Amino acid sequence: MTVDTKMFSVSSAGNTDIIDITGDVQDAVCGSKIKSGIAVVFVAGSTAAVSTVEFEPGLVKDIPRALEKIAPRNSDYEHHKTWGCDNGSSHVRSTLVGPSITLPFKDKKLILGTWQQICLLDFDTRAREREVVVQVMGD
Ligand code: ZN
Repeated sequence: MTVDTKMFSVSSAGNTDIIDITGDVQDAVCGSKIKSGIAVVFVAGSTAAVSTVEFEPGLVKDIPRALEKIAPRNSDYEHHKTWGCDNGSSHVRSTLVGPSITLPFKDKKLILGTWQQICLLDFDTRAREREVVVQVMGD
C-alpha cells in the first residue's frame, strides 16, 4: 500500500460558508500515483468541517438554517469566557459535522452519487484561509 499526502487551500467567508471542493479533491487523487483506494479529506481547524452535500442554492441556505437551530450564533457559550472570543457556535457546529470524510476511488475516479459533492463548511465568525489535507491510500 502507498500513501500520498496532498494539500490545497480554500478562502472562505466564514459564517457557515459552504464551498464545493470536489474538483480539488479529484485533482489530488489524479495527481497521486495510486490507482484505486481511499482518500481521507480533512480540514485542519476546530471551527470548520468536511462533508458531502448536494451543492445547490437551496441546501446552501437550508444547512445554515438547520445548524442555527442546533447551535445558535447568539447563544451563551462557556467557550466565550475561556478565550474572550465569539465563536462558540462555530466550534459546536464543527464537532457535530466533523473534520473529515473518507471516500473510495477506483481507476483514479472518486465514487460519488450524482448529486453528492464534497464540501468544506466554514463555521467561524470571520473570513478564513483553510488548509485541506487529502491523504490518498491504496495501490
Ligand atoms: Zn474559539
